Amino acid sequence: MVLDAPRTPLRPAKTPAPHPGPGQLLLRVHACGVCRTDLHVVDGELEKPKLPLILGHQIVGTVEERGTGADRHAVGSRVGVPWLGWTCGECAYCRSGRENLCRGARFTGYDIDGGYAEMAVADERFCFAIPEDYPDLQAAPLLCAGLIGWRSLRLAGDGERLGLYGFGAAAHIVAQVARHQGRRVFAFVRAGDEEGRRFALGMGASWAGGSRETPPEELDAAIIFAPVGELVPLALRAVAPGGVVVCGGIHMSEIPSFPYELLWEERVLRSVANLTRRDGEEFLALAPRVPVRTQVRPYPLEGAGRALDDLRSGRLRGAAAVVP
Ligand SMILES: [Zn+2]
Ligand SMILES: [Zn+2]
Repeated sequence: MVLDAPRTPLRPAKTPAPHPGPGQLLLRVHACGVCRTDLHVVDGELEKPKLPLILGHQIVGTVEERGTGADRHAVGSRVGVPWLGWTCGECAYCRSGRENLCRGARFTGYDIDGGYAEMAVADERFCFAIPEDYPDLQAAPLLCAGLIGWRSLRLAGDGERLGLYGFGAAAHIVAQVARHQGRRVFAFVRAGDEEGRRFALGMGASWAGGSRETPPEELDAAIIFAPVGELVPLALRAVAPGGVVVCGGIHMSEIPSFPYELLWEERVLRSVANLTRRDGEEFLALAPRVPVRTQVRPYPLEGAGRALDDLRSGRLRGAAAVVP
């Protein structure tokens, strides 16, 4: 499924199977998770995608062929490909464990063709082994919703009372990890979204309400997954002194101005960008121990556009993935 230009529908296309270069793997795609970032690319909110582009950065596939020197993953083994697709390995960020910030980084389904396809090529150094307990479909959302969710949770600190704004693919995973760590989860959904509220409670939230509601207790931290800038002052208002607010998305609408007293008393406001391979290894080792159970709605490959529409409209519960 090819994106020719922002704000145009994805187009089914027959293209020659890609060829794995040195250090690369040719993968047969079994499932590819659908992420809000894909929507931001389609909607033109992320401005520099390669075009034409195959979207998709939560690829679960098996190794079909290996390029020269690629020997980390055996032919036939199952691997996952995340958003971070390549880094320079030499810059100050790469050398200090912050490859997520590498200025030369290239991203799957953005700078590199991704997984809304039957075949894909990936740099083997950025492919993860998939835990055996997970069928392909259930593994797909671990690769971005899970990894970015995990990084956001880590950077939110150790506080016991955790708010999650926007209860989609990432939050439904993070809620399970947070509960496993002994935290309590407070879920914020779109005002009036009764089904979303029930879904959050079913995933272990101790409380769920509309995003403008005041939670029953002060929070120690909050993660904002919804791409809505108005949530930032609301989340700052909900956290206690010293609390942390993490913006987990790659794009957000404008943040309204707010009085300094919302930030005062050492509240912290920060973003999370991309992931490191260490995040991936940590999270994929942790997920089966929780165990994280993902709820994933499958779509045929040609239905990728419909999956994106359902994500945009808030009709999805949990995650979505295309299955070629
Ligand atoms: Zn670098
Ligand atoms: Zn993503």
